[in-house]
Amino acid sequence: MTFRDLNLKKPLWNALDELGYVTPTTIQSAGFNVMMSGKDTIGIAQTGTGKTLAYLLPCLCMWKFSKEPHPQILIIVPTRELVAQVVSEVEKLTVHMNVAVGGVYGGTNMNTQAAMVLQGLDVLVGTPGRILDLAAIGTLQLKHAKKVVIDEVDETLSLGFRPQLLRIFEFLPNKRQNMVFSATLSEEVSNFLDDYLTTPVRVEAARAGSSIDKIDQTAYRAPNFLSKVALLQHLLVQTPIESKVLVFVSSRTLADLLYEELEPSLAESLGVIHSNKAQNFRFNTVQNFQSGAINVLIATDLIARGIDVTDVSHVINFDIPESPENYIHRIGRTGRADKNGVAITFVSEKDQAALQAIEALMQKELSFTEVPEEVSFTMEILEFEKPKLVVPGKLIKLPKRENVGPSFHEKKAKNKKVNVRYDHKKAMQEKYGKPKRKRN
Ligand code: AMP
Repeated sequence: MTFRDLNLKKPLWNALDELGYVTPTTIQSAGFNVMMSGKDTIGIAQTGTGKTLAYLLPCLCMWKFSKEPHPQILIIVPTRELVAQVVSEVEKLTVHMNVAVGGVYGGTNMNTQAAMVLQGLDVLVGTPGRILDLAAIGTLQLKHAKKVVIDEVDETLSLGFRPQLLRIFEFLPNKRQNMVFSATLSEEVSNFLDDYLTTPVRVEAARAGSSIDKIDQTAYRAPNFLSKVALLQHLLVQTPIESKVLVFVSSRTLADLLYEELEPSLAESLGVIHSNKAQNFRFNTVQNFQSGAINVLIATDLIARGIDVTDVSHVINFDIPESPENYIHRIGRTGRADKNGVAITFVSEKDQAALQAIEALMQKELSFTEVPEEVSFTMEILEFEKPKLVVPGKLIKLPKRENVGPSFHEKKAKNKKVNVRYDHKKAMQEKYGKPKRKRN
């Protein structure tokens, strides 16, 4: 099957040809007719399955030119990076169409974005908070939105955007087509979908296993941060010079710490992104990674979700991800669109439970590779790795209990004894009365 078999329009076919996309992915072919029928749709698809095109193609195919300056297509995504990525996909697909697309997200000046919205848009991509802000001040009118996509709804909900989504719904027309995409169908996602979609049709990307099959997964045991650094340095030296290596860490602090450790040896070829870095810095770093100017990028989970970098050859989980779904998300950055990839995970003693959860989700055990002899591990642990000592706080005097009766069992005889301290001064006073003061 090719894109020519989908009932698309000529400008879209031409754009796809120019992009070199020939064969639709599973979610693209399975979802196309469902979405074209106008029904509410739930797409179960993780990043790397071609889910963005899966909803963009039918949306753009059904789009009709209108003099209305307000968006007909609204796409809600959880992160700024994803906004940029979806906007860029729309731009690429509409090179032969007269479609105005724009992206809005928080953390930047709202006036500039408001001005862009006022100029008139056909497709608006944005994060929930900023869409709501612009709708609330009346700049953005959503009553013309006929197609509403919520991409990565699982992530959007887990970031706490549910109230914003519900408020956005209040601005939308009742008659609209909803298309919701999620990597997982958790209880939270299912409840949300049950409440807000009308008899949706469910389409699924190729089973997680099929894209994962293209990824060569392996794991190494490494006891602590510094040992992991030594192992990572060794692996980086081994990877071919043209590789693109995405290294995942669990927190922003660790991302910076790892950057400091690797910088002396990797210098120019290393980058780091996380949510504490400025927007411009993030865009530039991702672009440098995409262009190959840097070939090792350290990232945290949330940020990495939104980045669309083609040809990532290696994903290295410096820290094991907390949820098994995140493992799938992370390794899904490699082995994309019919390419093979390598995923390497460092596992320490305390990661056993997380490892089991991942293996259970994949229904497959991760195979471990022996750590090469030339890599020397250390037992030294850094401050943040030390087990937290529980410092006993001050003893707090508890208030006396009121209205309590006698204890329910009699005290034993030996416990009834009361120790009385002999006070000589008091005894003398009782015997002889108060001492008289000498007169001068
Ligand atoms: P997504 O899952 O939407 O994040 O897309 C993953 C990557 O695959 C993006 O870089 C797309 O441009 C690319 N892609 C999407 N569909 C196809 C296709 N049918 N053929 C080749 N590449 C594709």
